[in-house]
Amino acid sequence: MFTYIDPSVRKRLIDAGKLIRIDADGKEVPADQPPVAGAKAISILGPIPLPLEVNGQQYKVQWYASVRHTELAKAQELADELRERGGQDSFAILASSMAVNSVLLIGDPQNADNPLVRVHSSCLTGDVFGSQRCECGPQFASALDRISGDPAGGMIIYMSGHEGRGIGLWAKAATYVLQDTGENTYQANRSLGLPDDSRDFSDAASLLKYFQGDRPFRLLTNNPKKIQDLTSAGLRHVTAVKHVTGVSDANRKYLSAKRDWGHDLDNEDLGED
Ligand SMILES: [Zn+2]
Repeated sequence: MFTYIDPSVRKRLIDAGKLIRIDADGKEVPADQPPVAGAKAISILGPIPLPLEVNGQQYKVQWYASVRHTELAKAQELADELRERGGQDSFAILASSMAVNSVLLIGDPQNADNPLVRVHSSCLTGDVFGSQRCECGPQFASALDRISGDPAGGMIIYMSGHEGRGIGLWAKAATYVLQDTGENTYQANRSLGLPDDSRDFSDAASLLKYFQGDRPFRLLTNNPKKIQDLTSAGLRHVTAVKHVTGVSDANRKYLSAKRDWGHDLDNEDLGED
């Protein structure tokens, strides 16, 4: 039988406690029945031990993959349709539209006071290619390093649908072209008729509530809006911890646009006098 994930495998994962489902408040709900219509449900698969090596350093993390039930259900529906049409070669399109976020759990933050958390927006050019037009790559590596070195441990929540502050990779490429004609990162978004920042942190909030409950944690960020979004999603005990790294000549202008927009960065952070 051709489905996105074979129902018997799905059952095995649920029985083994490796596939669970949570609601918007991070409360576990039954994974073996359809979720309440209209209610947010997030499936979480894990923990999966993931030995990492970043910048020559080794880290042990537990990886959890998470996806909104609605997106998974769409993929499942499409799988049924493809099966009927015998279109198994189109399998790749099933997964391509699914935003799967990740949680990297480091140490034992659930049993520690005030762990360290990074909610990191995906950035192909920065995180994978090592682009210096932004500071995402060094921020990710440094978050991994800081959390691993912290006695309380913590987690990185990697938001896969957040490319270009939520506008997607294609539009982000267009903004880079506009930026090279002199517009800053926010002006370029507006020129394309797109919001300055369209990232949705509600799934990150649900995941944090599941893993952390309402306990205090420290968030590695320079972005006050991220704190506001998480706080208004019900996480009331967030302390910001500055996370400045990867500043270079290639991204100083970009970072000063972020500062003007409201990021907590000062002249010293940007290597300016
Ligand atoms: Zn980036």
